[in-house]
Amino acid sequence: MKPAPFVYHRARDAVGATRLLSELGDESKVIAGGQSLVAMMNFRLARPRHLVDVGGLKELDHLRTGPDGALHIGALTTHHTVECASDERLGSGFAVLRAAMEWVGHLPIRTRGTVGGSIAHADATAEWCLLAVALDAEMVALGPRGERRIPAADFFQGYYTTALDPDELLVEVVFPGPAPYAALTEFAERRGDFAIVSTVVALDLRDGAVHGGRVALGGVAPLPVRSPEAEAVLARGGPAGPELFTACAEAAAAAADPPGDGGGDSAYRTALIRELVRRACEEAVSR
Ligand SMILES: Cc1cc2nc3c(=O)[nH]c(=O)nc-3n(C[C@H](O)[C@H](O)[C@H](O)COP(=O)(O)OP(=O)(O)OC[C@H]3O[C@@H](n4cnc5c(N)ncnc54)[C@H](O)[C@@H]3O)c2cc1C
Repeated sequence: MKPAPFVYHRARDAVGATRLLSELGDESKVIAGGQSLVAMMNFRLARPRHLVDVGGLKELDHLRTGPDGALHIGALTTHHTVECASDERLGSGFAVLRAAMEWVGHLPIRTRGTVGGSIAHADATAEWCLLAVALDAEMVALGPRGERRIPAADFFQGYYTTALDPDELLVEVVFPGPAPYAALTEFAERRGDFAIVSTVVALDLRDGAVHGGRVALGGVAPLPVRSPEAEAVLARGGPAGPELFTACAEAAAAAADPPGDGGGDSAYRTALIRELVRRACEEAVSR
């Protein structure tokens, strides 16, 4: 399969990239690692007239903790960079991000695919999108009118749809605070496939007791979603153990109404939610 014809442009820096996007208009697209976009172009699901390549922009390839404890990930940081990051580089309390990378495709995809590309692509089961929603990440977008920060809750708007304007570049993803007791778990038919259902649980765990937490689900709606019902169970608190975790998983499953498709019908996805949320709670404690 070959893509429809396009004109290739290489951006020199982030500001130059937004200028190009603004000049070239709606028929232009950013290309980063190309791991999603090129496949879509080959299948003619995307037909951009112009590609703006940001792949060489070193200024967007970074992983650093700010003085406020937030983790700043440059949009061009690859999945593999996060997967291999030392504790020191990743910062305390962000190990869930590193552990989650093992679920993203295969090694060659992880060495080229980028954090920003994954989030801008907004697949409903992509690990980065789920992590961003679960951990209240903020997306930093740069456009002709300057920079703006978009909370994850507003950023993802539906299937492959985000709040980014066509002339905006995602430059950084900020995870505001550590999540030391967090885990991502998922089910896919084959290792490396996109998940059918995925979940992130982040517990507020102190002295062996749960005092609250966050539960996010992927593959159950057009975008990753939080489960307020499951979070309400965690907020009631209690000893970190099977009783609480089963109640949390039951609440998540009872409230969800996932659509069925070729990957599994609604009842199957609901059963996966129940099992995966429970497992994620257990894994989060074991960290
Ligand atoms: C076989 C296979 C299996 C995969 N499995 C998984 C999986 O299990 N989980 C998963 O999450 N992903 C998976 N992926 C996708 C992979 O993670 C991609 O790397 C990722 O989705 C996109 O990153 P990219 O840098 O390659 O983006 P690209 O393909 O270059 O771009 C993707 C989209 O994002 C836009 N974009 C990219 N960067 C920016 C930016 N900085 N600002 C604004 N817009 C931008 C592009 O215009 C395009 O619309 C898989 C891919 C393949 C081929």
